[in-house]
Amino acid sequence: MLRSSLIWLSRQKSIFRFVRNNSLAKGFASRFVAGETIDSACTAVAALNAAGISASLDVLGESCTNEGEARETGRMYLEVLDEIARRKLDANVSVKMTALGQDISDAVCEEITRSILERARQYGTFVRLDMEGSDYTQRTLDFFSQRLFTDFPENVGIVLQSMMRRTAQDTAWAVEKQCRVRLCKGAYLEPASVAFPDKRDVDRTFVDCAKVLIEHGRYPGLATHDPAIIAEISAWATSKGIGADRFEYQMLNGVRRDLQEQLVRDGWRLRVYVPFGTQWYPYLMRRLAERPANIWFIAGNVLRETFRRR
Ligand SMILES: Cc1cc2nc3c(=O)[nH]c(=O)nc-3n(C[C@H](O)[C@H](O)[C@H](O)COP(=O)(O)OP(=O)(O)OC[C@H]3O[C@@H](n4cnc5c(N)ncnc54)[C@H](O)[C@@H]3O)c2cc1C
Repeated sequence: MLRSSLIWLSRQKSIFRFVRNNSLAKGFASRFVAGETIDSACTAVAALNAAGISASLDVLGESCTNEGEARETGRMYLEVLDEIARRKLDANVSVKMTALGQDISDAVCEEITRSILERARQYGTFVRLDMEGSDYTQRTLDFFSQRLFTDFPENVGIVLQSMMRRTAQDTAWAVEKQCRVRLCKGAYLEPASVAFPDKRDVDRTFVDCAKVLIEHGRYPGLATHDPAIIAEISAWATSKGIGADRFEYQMLNGVRRDLQEQLVRDGWRLRVYVPFGTQWYPYLMRRLAERPANIWFIAGNVLRETFRRR
């Protein structure tokens, strides 16, 4: 109930307009979001790199139905790639197809995405196509395989969500294509017709698909903060003599920093997803929905601010 309310709130643009000017909400967002500019984002990436952690930069924004906005987001990604190269950062980028015009037309989206991929190829780096809600799953995989992968096999990859009933099949498909996959659990509210209602099935599918991708796929990214899953996969990989260079763990900026440090200390590869930009509200609400306990973090800040003002 709380989760679905938070996800509903994440879609309310009028609330975002209100929240964007609220210093408290901004303060909370700064735990997860690396500021609103390319400069602040790259500074955050440099700090991660210094701690032995790679990054993936995400220009926040989604569900854009205005071509000008989609082109502007595309242009920002080119700037991000230039800045990553200029500062010699260990980072790639993650993009949301709806932010690049997927809801406008495939032709517009393809033109913008290809311009980003051309730039990524020029720098020898990589672009991850984030996965959104289930309405977009097949469209995104088709778009990827029919319009991008053949021309940019080294520079583009997809995301699969273990909450989706179809993901074991999609994993086999990705292994056959030898395309790069980020596996995550899935952040969107989905009906039981397409997604597992029981979290145990989501977790089991994650572990099963992760093992297939590590053994037979191509350098997968395992995006989770789940300590039990990480322990199981790490122990399994070690027992099979699979080296740390065969896959990477991925986590979100500001989430489970303790676990992030531990993974690096244990010698595993880690990439942190670093979102930035003015459109941070839907992203923040999804993080709250995943872990409503974070609301207490906000409440704590309210109390602290109230007492400080006195
Ligand atoms: C790098 C990366 C990229 C992602 N890309 C996508 C994508 O393209 N599409 C998509 O649908 N989803 C994406 N996600 C989100 C993902 O699907 C999950 O919603 C999210 O990662 C929470 O799931 P979990 O595996 O961490 O485990 P959960 O089972 O949700 O949580 C396990 C443990 O992780 C910790 N934890 C998890 N979330 C939080 C949080 N917000 N705050 C504090 N602690 C937390 C807690 O300790 C919790 O007990 C991505 C996640 C990561 C890390």
